Amino acid sequence: MLTAAREVSVFGDAIAYFNEAASLLDLEAGMRRLLTKPSRQIIFSIPFQRDSGELEVYTGYRVQYNFARGPAKGGIRYHPGVTLDEVTALAFWMTWKCAVVDLPFGGGKGGVTCDPTTLSKGELERITRRYAAELVEVVGPDKDVPAPDVGTTPQIMAWFFDTYSMHTRQHTPSVVTGKPLELGGSRGRVEATGRGVSLVALAQMAEMGIEPKNARIAIQGFGNVGSVAAKMFADRGCSIVGISDVSGGYYNERGIDIAGATAYSQEHHSLEGYRGGDRVTNQAILETPCDVLVPAALEKQLTVENAPRVHAKLIVEGANGPTTPEADHIFHERGIVVIPDILANAGGVTVSYFEWAQDRAGYFWRESEVNERLAEIMLENFARVRELAATRNVPYRTAAYMLAINRVVQSMNIRGVYA
Ligand code: NAD
Repeated sequence: MLTAAREVSVFGDAIAYFNEAASLLDLEAGMRRLLTKPSRQIIFSIPFQRDSGELEVYTGYRVQYNFARGPAKGGIRYHPGVTLDEVTALAFWMTWKCAVVDLPFGGGKGGVTCDPTTLSKGELERITRRYAAELVEVVGPDKDVPAPDVGTTPQIMAWFFDTYSMHTRQHTPSVVTGKPLELGGSRGRVEATGRGVSLVALAQMAEMGIEPKNARIAIQGFGNVGSVAAKMFADRGCSIVGISDVSGGYYNERGIDIAGATAYSQEHHSLEGYRGGDRVTNQAILETPCDVLVPAALEKQLTVENAPRVHAKLIVEGANGPTTPEADHIFHERGIVVIPDILANAGGVTVSYFEWAQDRAGYFWRESEVNERLAEIMLENFARVRELAATRNVPYRTAAYMLAINRVVQSMNIRGVYA
């Protein structure tokens, strides 16, 4: 059972990061006003029938933040903490994420306030189909292309695709990414975000002289992003000393057997009861002695309270918005390097872009091709961020925002603002 517990504005925090970069770019006031407002926010009711026959009503959201560089792009979240504020922040981040890796997309995000862990397969299908049906007019390959996020899966994307295709009477796999391979999904998509996290982390570790075989890594969240990143690090010889999920944390200074933990988590749908490490609190995983910390769960996990106790030399943000601006400031003061979410977890949307392109061409790539192109895009744009950070003497986060904002503003200036 998941719980909702977020009161402070996530979008407010997200804008703080934007403003810092915008000031360094001398962005004019009008453009700043435009870029700190979402283009479109949609809220709707999702009535659905429980297996018991009872009628329930949930709330659905889709925020299309910016279209300057292409159709809106971003996942759909099913979680009890989903609010308009959170979805707006996530859509805002998607705008900069797509731009920082130079994809021809704008930013969007969606969600349903619900706890998918308490819903049957049939209930999830009915919610998803009604969610998709409500959005038929505003999504599409050239309008807005959703994907999976926390609590949603390739199966949910398949139902979304099917519902859209039924309503439009057209087989349209490119309306959504993260689909199963049988329906036009891309090879490598499931692993893409975790793979991207490990690619930029290993590149930065090399810069900092941290040898993979000596590296101790702690990972918060053991879902799609966290578990795949853990596997990629373990494959490179790193020792994963701590992992956690909603059930709690697990610590083993000799290194957790990642294949075993993944198999356990898949079988039990959680790490609850996992015996391959000492049971600790979720908070303890963030403060665990390690070289690299990967928050890969939800927003606002690294805060002013725990930031002074973080041991890692490097933080790689697998999750979106895991660090509050106050904590980020503390990390900067303490000389802890942070690879920001909009860059570190951009591997998922990058392979989503490949999936969209493959669906439109009707021609599918080999997995090695997908992984090669993913590495090229991630590492090339990380090098640009590093270069900008060095020339402007700013942290990676500010440099990533500067690069992304510049790209979006350039497109907007060339198109002109229809005002
Ligand atoms: P997921 O649903 O597969 O996994 C989320 C994990 O976080 C689960 O293991 C869950 O138990 C755990 N978790 C939830 N609350 C927690 C808590 N309080 N403490 C510790 N663990 C907790 O989701 P995911 O797709 O892995 O996404 C994780 C993060 O990565 C999110 O911020 C998401 O927006 C971001 N992200 C995902 C993708 C993607 O392709 N899936 C891409 C970019 C960014």
